[in-house]
Parts: sequence; C-alpha cells; structure tokens
Amino acid sequence: MHPMVKPALRRGWRDLNTVQFGMAPAHAMVLGPMDTATGSFLDLLDGTRGLPLLREEGRKMGLPDGHVDGLVERLARSGLLDDSTGGGPAADALRKKKEVLDRLLPDLASLSLVAPEPGDAIKRLAARRSLHVQVRGAGRVGVILASLLAGAGVGEIDVRDIGRVEPWDVAPGGLPADSIGERREEAASRAVRRAAPDRPPRTSSKEKKENEEEKGAVRGLSLVILTPRDGLAVHAPDPAAAEALIASGTPHLYAGVVEGTGVVGPLVLPGDTGCAGCLDEGRADRDPTWPRLVAQWRSGQQRRVPACDLTLAAGVAGVAAGHALAFLDGELPSSAGARWEASVPGFDWHARPVWPHPACPCGTAEKGKGERASEDGGPHATMAGQQPYAARLSGTWRAHV
Ligand SMILES: [Zn+2]
Repeated sequence: MHPMVKPALRRGWRDLNTVQFGMAPAHAMVLGPMDTATGSFLDLLDGTRGLPLLREEGRKMGLPDGHVDGLVERLARSGLLDDSTGGGPAADALRKKKEVLDRLLPDLASLSLVAPEPGDAIKRLAARRSLHVQVRGAGRVGVILASLLAGAGVGEIDVRDIGRVEPWDVAPGGLPADSIGERREEAASRAVRRAAPDRPPRTSSKEKKENEEEKGAVRGLSLVILTPRDGLAVHAPDPAAAEALIASGTPHLYAGVVEGTGVVGPLVLPGDTGCAGCLDEGRADRDPTWPRLVAQWRSGQQRRVPACDLTLAAGVAGVAAGHALAFLDGELPSSAGARWEASVPGFDWHARPVWPHPACPCGTAEKGKGERASEDGGPHATMAGQQPYAARLSGTWRAHV
C-alpha cells in the first residue's frame, strides 16, 4: 500500500490542532486533535511512498513509534485515505495506460470522494471500462449524454436510432455540423468514439450485437437509457415500449426535453422502483382525463421541429449521465423512483416521486408489500430485508452488471 491523503480535498487548519479536509460541506471532514508535526507529515502521504519508508521518514521527523501507522489507520477510518497502488488487476491495467488515466484524473479524484476504502476510486473507474450501456435516441440529449458516458470511461456505448441527422440535431458535445445528412446511428457512434479517452476493448462486438438482437436487445446491458427525440416519450413514456426491459430485469433511465421542460428519471430498477406503467397509472388516478390526453398526443404525427432549448438539453444530458454513472458505480441515485424536472427560464431542478402502482403489471407495489410484511415478521425477516434499502438495491444491481 502507498497511502495517499485524498488529493481532491483541499486542507486547511481551523485552529492550532484541528485540520479540515475539503471545502464543500458535502464531503468535508474535520480531524483533531492533530499536532503541527503530524500535520506536516501529511504532505508525505502523497502516494509515492510505502509504509516502511513512511515509518522511516516519521522517525527522522521525531514522531514516536507507531505514530505513522496510527495516523494512516485513522485517516483510512475517516474515509480520507486512498492507495495509489490499490484497486486490483483492472486498476493496475488502467494505471499502465497513462494517457487514458491522465484524461480521467479529475473523475478519479471525484470518485475518491464517494468511494470510502483506499483503492476503491480507481477500482470503480476501471470497472466502468467493462460496462455496456445502450442509449436509445440520437437527438441533442442522447448524443451529448452518450458522449459524456464515453468521456467518463464507460467502455461500450451503443447509440440506437433511425433516420438521418437533421440540422436541429446538431449540438456542442453531441452531433457535429458535418454529420448532417448521415445516418444518425453512425454519426452518433463516431461522436461517442471521439469523446472516449481511448478505444474500448472490443471483443467480437459484432457477434455480441447479433446475440443481443436475438434475445430482444437487452441481454448483457448494464443499463439502457431512453432519450427519445420526441419529448412526449419522456413526458408520458409508453409502458408497452418498456415491456421487454421490465421482463428481462434491465435497469433503464428516461431523459429528455418536452417543450420547455427537461426531465431526468425515473431510473427504473424492475421490481424495485416505479416504472413507466406505474407513472401512467398514478397520473390516471390523479387526473381522469390523462388517458384521453395521452391518446391524442400519441395519435398526432409530430411534423414540426420540437422545442428543445440547447442549454436545457445539455443540462438534462449532464444530470442524466451523472445519475447513470452513479448507478453504474454501485450507488443509488435520487432518480430511482423519482423524476427530476427543470423548466426554462428558471432552471430550478425539483424531484417528483414515481410510486409503484398496485395496478401496474410490473408487480413492484405487490413486492414492496410482501417485503414490508416479512420485515414485520421479526425472526422470519429475510437477509435482504435487514439491509438498508440503498445497500440492498446497489448490491442487487451491481451483481446484474
Ligand atoms: Zn410498474
């Protein structure tokens, strides 16, 4: 182990013997008491030295025996320590690709803020390289989002769409102007490749694709992101369109712009969180005219160019990509069971819950009831029921990956 105080957190002394690691409250920690000699020793914990060398340096600085080990342990316990040699074989392979890792250094530093154990951050970053995500829809939101995921280190991203690039599909960070007239899928794949820090390890991807198509295009996918060019399919997602995803247990996330409103979510974890069908049923409960409106919206062919504020599209793509990455990294983002929305010109993001609905064939509401009953049952409670909801979900879904 080569201990390293997480470099993402800027240090400052609150007083003579208290150190604050980090500025922003979300991840800042205060450690004390700490004497000035120990404080200066922190500079040596930069990942370039192993423990034996650090102990020797400590002795030279007059620190008592065992002090260095105690400090390292204390920092690790507080989640402030990383290991510049840890993370396992995939992390080692990534370290060998210096140009790739250099591109991802800010993301690695950011991951270190949420990955508690030394070596976890690079382990998560390296794990992204073996993931396969499908993005359905190559409009402004879809291609920016797919490019962001590629740029953040996700190994394989497959953008699906039909037709050819229109002038209004073009966006900074998305489809370039010189792709107008090309097939959307091809242009989007090229944009994604250009955004990636290197060429992903492509092992017979053509074969893989054929296999997937046979099995309904969902097997082997860590996540499907639905970014339809027509915002209606995000505002009022059609439950029938997600049936194969629900049936195969494939996690999926909705993101898009409808008129002047950007939508991120829900992230659907089939059987665990509310889906498009639950959303639809809930709305029909609250507003009996909802089904009639949706039928009218769906029946008319959209002939005009839909409204889509470029900055809102970029914002939606960024927020949705963040939620997707958090999920892929093993966390549970707040879009699981909720939709985040923001409208022009205020851009005030707010969340609306998407509750599991008892009438929805996905069965999440029923399952939830069963679990609550078993938790109430005391000694008969299942292992899963004893874990916090987030831990259980992320555990479950990491395994799927
Ligand atoms: Zn449902």
